[in-house]
Amino acid sequence: MSVEFDELVPGEFYVLTPEGKLYYPEEFKSDDKNLMNLIEKEALGVKKSYPKSPHIDYMRRLHIAETEPLSDAGHLTFLPKGTLIMDLLMDYALDVVRRIGGLPVKTSIMYDLNIPAISEHAKLFGQRMYKVKPVKREFVLRYAACFGQFAMLKRHYLSAKDLPLKLFEIADSYRYEQRGEVSGLARIRRFYMPDLHILTKDLEEAKDEFFKIFKLIFDEAHKFGWTYYNLYNIVEDFLVDHFNYILKLVKYENKPVLIHVVESGKYYWKINIEFHYMDSQGRPLETATVQIDVGNSKRFDIKYHGEDGVVKYPVILHTAIHGSLERFLYEFLEEAAKMERTGKKPMLPVWLSPTQVRIIPVSANYLDYAYNILMMLRDSNIRVDIDDRDLTLAKKIRNAEKEWIPYIVVVGEKEVKGNTLSVRVRSEGGRERKMTLSELIEHVKTEVKGFPFRGLYYSEFVSKRPEFV
Ligand SMILES: [Zn+2]
Repeated sequence: MSVEFDELVPGEFYVLTPEGKLYYPEEFKSDDKNLMNLIEKEALGVKKSYPKSPHIDYMRRLHIAETEPLSDAGHLTFLPKGTLIMDLLMDYALDVVRRIGGLPVKTSIMYDLNIPAISEHAKLFGQRMYKVKPVKREFVLRYAACFGQFAMLKRHYLSAKDLPLKLFEIADSYRYEQRGEVSGLARIRRFYMPDLHILTKDLEEAKDEFFKIFKLIFDEAHKFGWTYYNLYNIVEDFLVDHFNYILKLVKYENKPVLIHVVESGKYYWKINIEFHYMDSQGRPLETATVQIDVGNSKRFDIKYHGEDGVVKYPVILHTAIHGSLERFLYEFLEEAAKMERTGKKPMLPVWLSPTQVRIIPVSANYLDYAYNILMMLRDSNIRVDIDDRDLTLAKKIRNAEKEWIPYIVVVGEKEVKGNTLSVRVRSEGGRERKMTLSELIEHVKTEVKGFPFRGLYYSEFVSKRPEFV
């Protein structure tokens, strides 16, 4: 049975369909398991227990990251491969934001709790704050980039023509998550947040920008082959006054969403959407977010000068288009787990694979030839290495498979004579293909087109690497 508009109660959850119908979550039925999982978790408080997420095992086996016993729980150490992956994700997040006109900044990680604006905002975080007290004054470690960017905006003259203004930062952020919840890359206490704030003139401009970001978040997810299931937290008066706008968002999604109606006047935001990724076990996890904030410009005294000469407070959007970088990586690893579950070879996208091409000479006699190929690939901005160890061919291939290397090139007598390469293509189940070097280059370049590149972070000779690489 659907719910009438005037029956909505703050504090409660509802399901809103693209047709504009509202339902109580306990009465809503759908064949979409992902949607039902989200409703059960967020609205009905069903606690499902899942086996350990496969990404944790991948994280260790691929030498991506380790938990750090000498620090607090939920603080990770990234090994060289993991560092390369994280830096590529950082480059990627920055590219996406620069395309929409984001201005990168770097701000401090700690803020003075004696300043009312800081302590008021920090209060919302309650027990999840990390506090630092060097001598007398007490500081809070940032849990996103808001403080630093807001403080900076307050100091600078802003006029209407500067808006919408987009500030971006990849902020290492600190949240004291409950110990029992700390897990792999999914929930940690220190993480990197690609955090974008958009200053807009008024609520109408904020709604326009919000819709653009909302679409961008979906485009990004589709680019990588996943979609999101969403929870909209909406302040009651905003829901009533802007129902058609909200319906426009739901229609764009083209599937029902969960809404949480909250009391008017209590929060600094009007609407905040949590985009949930569904992992390989069907567990929903919040990644991207976007919200409209009508309270913090006043609190932090951020103003702009209107065309009419009147000084106004901007409406601010907070958004993390990809969620934290760790959760972004978690998504790619969980996608790999989905591949494994369906009988495919798990892998990262080629642009994110630390080694993209591994060359394996069948014996030391072909090392020089192999190295020539390496140089050509390297010159084309492809991350390539050589397994020059004194091991059997079968063992070297097995090793490369274990590292999820997308292209394995075996070089021996036949290849030297025939001037072609035998390439095992992981995305095709390890199928062996004959290609010329230029065909291989072309193949890899097509695969990584539009994504950032960095060179190898470790020796191109496998024999010269420490055990942890
Ligand atoms: Zn923010």
